[in-house]
Amino acid sequence: MRPLQMVDTKTQYHKIKTEVDAAVLAVLESSAFIGGKVVSTFAENLAKYHGSKHCIPCANGTDALQIAMMALGLKSGDEVITPSFTYIATVEVAALLGIKPIFVEVDAKTFCIDPAIIEKAITPKTKAIVPVHLYGQAANMEAIMKIAAAHHLFVIEDNAQGIGNNYTFSNGSTKKTGSIGHIGCTSFYPSKNLGAYGDGGAMFTDDDALADKLRMIASHGQSKRYYHDVIGCNSRLDAVQAAILDIKLTHLDEYITARRKAADFYDNAFANNKKITVPFRDANNKHVFHQYTLLVEGVDRDGLHQFLADNAVPSMIYYPVPAHRQKMFDAFGGSSYHLPVTDWLTERVISLPIHTELDEEQQTFIINKVLEFVNK
Ligand SMILES: *Cc1c(COP(=O)(O)O)cnc(C)c1O
Repeated sequence: MRPLQMVDTKTQYHKIKTEVDAAVLAVLESSAFIGGKVVSTFAENLAKYHGSKHCIPCANGTDALQIAMMALGLKSGDEVITPSFTYIATVEVAALLGIKPIFVEVDAKTFCIDPAIIEKAITPKTKAIVPVHLYGQAANMEAIMKIAAAHHLFVIEDNAQGIGNNYTFSNGSTKKTGSIGHIGCTSFYPSKNLGAYGDGGAMFTDDDALADKLRMIASHGQSKRYYHDVIGCNSRLDAVQAAILDIKLTHLDEYITARRKAADFYDNAFANNKKITVPFRDANNKHVFHQYTLLVEGVDRDGLHQFLADNAVPSMIYYPVPAHRQKMFDAFGGSSYHLPVTDWLTERVISLPIHTELDEEQQTFIINKVLEFVNK
């Protein structure tokens, strides 16, 4: 059996090595390292895949979120509504801009922001909702967009974990997550579903004026070279990463299929265990399984994590401390929040290895170890 890893980017690379190596060498030969045709071609191809009019690449997913908030004119004193059960980047960028994150509860089944609670958190200072498609599960975008329209709020989707998820609305129409809100943001961190071999990120929008703003802010606020109209930053996707990503994009759907197949295999194995809840699936969205995360009840979760590690089975706790309990948010009244579902989840979730190269022999080993501990 091949050694177990949370993600296996090396085996995945070897399957496309010839193509990738040639593309990287071509960039080196061209010496167009920043910007240029390779980057713009990738952005066009990704926009097409995504069903978005514009794709604006940037340096990473964290920058994408920050630039999105800047382009929408969010500023110090404004509020954004966001889940606490997320990766820190989602909310850190708001705080960095002096925007107050208002943490709301997540749905206990989907682990995504609970639309029923959003309205109660809206104040005259609220400017945007930032849903996170956590683990690759789509948030309830239909309800979120309705609330946003009724209250004239922007929606910035954190789609770092959800790229490729095809969300279905109640009228049967579909849209990719990240193309539903005013701006969608994603990350090409190597372990993400569309992972680079370094850092990268992108923003998506259908709005021409907004696309211009995003582009301008990512490039020092330049309207044309050396003319800086607004305060911006420096956030670029480099050509080597774009060349690699353009190849991996042609495999993205096949990668997602492989992740779903692995998820199905786990689901079947854990289906009848009363202490284990497998990831929620509903007809409206097609989970892309950036993570495969179990909820364990009546089990020493941290003991399971350690037991798996002792048996060379990697697992992860995403995330052990919710955002509102991070020291960083003390100044924003983080500790005054009462988010029992979020706290309950952080004590019970555990993510198992899932990636495009996982085989049934490896999964069977992982499953047996999990069950050995859980049924003890
Ligand atoms: C990975 C991730 C980010 C940040 O992406 P980087 O490219 O690492 O900056 C933001 N939000 C979520 C939910 C993520 O998983």
